[in-house]
Amino acid sequence: MYLHTSESIPSYEVSSTPELYFLRGCNKRAAQVVRGPSLSVFDVEGVRRDFPGLHQRVNGKPLIWFDNAATTQKPQSVIDATSSFYSRDYSNIHRAAHALAARSTELSEAGRRKCVNSRRSRREGDCFLRGTTEAVNLVAQSYGRKNIGAGDEIILTEMEHHANIVPWQLLSDQTGAAIRVVPINNRGELILDEFARLFGPRTKFVALAHVSNSLGTINPVEQIIALAHARGVPVLIDGAQSAPHLPVNVTALDADFFVFSAHKVFGPTGIGALYGKAHLLEQMPPWQGGGHMIKDVTFAKTTFQHAPEKFEAGTPDIAGVVGLGAAIDYVTQVGIPADAAYEHGLLEYATRALSTVPGLRPIGTAANKASVLSFVIAGVSIESIAKHLDKHRHRRPSRSHHCAMPDAAPLWPRGHRERPSLAFYNTHAEVDALIHASSPAP
Ligand code: PMP
Repeated sequence: MYLHTSESIPSYEVSSTPELYFLRGCNKRAAQVVRGPSLSVFDVEGVRRDFPGLHQRVNGKPLIWFDNAATTQKPQSVIDATSSFYSRDYSNIHRAAHALAARSTELSEAGRRKCVNSRRSRREGDCFLRGTTEAVNLVAQSYGRKNIGAGDEIILTEMEHHANIVPWQLLSDQTGAAIRVVPINNRGELILDEFARLFGPRTKFVALAHVSNSLGTINPVEQIIALAHARGVPVLIDGAQSAPHLPVNVTALDADFFVFSAHKVFGPTGIGALYGKAHLLEQMPPWQGGGHMIKDVTFAKTTFQHAPEKFEAGTPDIAGVVGLGAAIDYVTQVGIPADAAYEHGLLEYATRALSTVPGLRPIGTAANKASVLSFVIAGVSIESIAKHLDKHRHRRPSRSHHCAMPDAAPLWPRGHRERPSLAFYNTHAEVDALIHASSPAP
């Protein structure tokens, strides 16, 4: 059953993988940079030591965390940064002249700068919100209500997460706009010809996932953005699943909006970012009102700050942004090209290994994939696989519709599948354990 054991797995040399598809579009030279002798080979055991959550037993067995598409475990440095912020530096920001306010403000600003720099975006284009869901809702309600009306069309795809469907449906109910949906083929890839065909004179917006959370498909977003821009249509990229696995340069991508959540990139829950092109954010009305987003308030008239403050009403998640900054420091230190190369090798290994399990049907076999290994097993209910994995193999991967119900329709009977999803701290031995647990007893 095992293709080979973890001991026999070769190390992944970053410098030997220059043509990886997921590094296309990023700086090739940067992608090939080896960060120094100690990191030229990806040190997965060293990385694992940084994550305390991985070192525990569940049901008497060592935990295996294969639920990374849902959320990721946190490195000690993120836990420490958040804890030290609350222990020593905590205050509200911007509003007071005392020492703690200054420290707190500086830490928060540093976290924001790291996030902006890591995606080569611009300060005024980055709004810090609760996460992907809130960011899509903001764009739908603020940009959408201003620019999309009755009879206009919004293009989504069949593989969207509910967070990138429901906000547009709400907008559609409020405005009378119609939603058009790009279909996927049986490998779980977008049918690009259909994409092009759906554009019409009333198309006003395109929103799609960079990487599908249920299929793992990496969408050709550069191509899609170019297609939309050629018709003058802005595009929102849901980066919830690409930010953890791919180097993202929002400026090079030319996305009009790019959204992601920190908890999927080894950072805290409750914080994420919306990148938007400055000229679009400027014309968008505020979404929520309150403190911090205003310039001047009287009962007769209120004036607002510019972006990003205009979209950040109220006390923000200060500790969250400090933790996000620490997560970005951590990922940068490990080296995004190195961890992406290792993870891609692990995905290929797991894909080959799963194909040896009798009756197993992989769901989502796109040529370009990241992290996700959805499957069903003929004649075995997904509940029983899930129970089996949880009981015998420590931690069951996520199951059910994975908040992407519509993508189920063309690929399998609506409903349930297993969805193990990898991160750079997973090992070949853990994949072997999954294969073993998914295989029928001899
Ligand atoms: N989009 C995608 C592709 C996702 O995977 C997720 C989370 N599973 C979301 C949006 C929503 O993210 P959040 O719950 O952090 O807002």
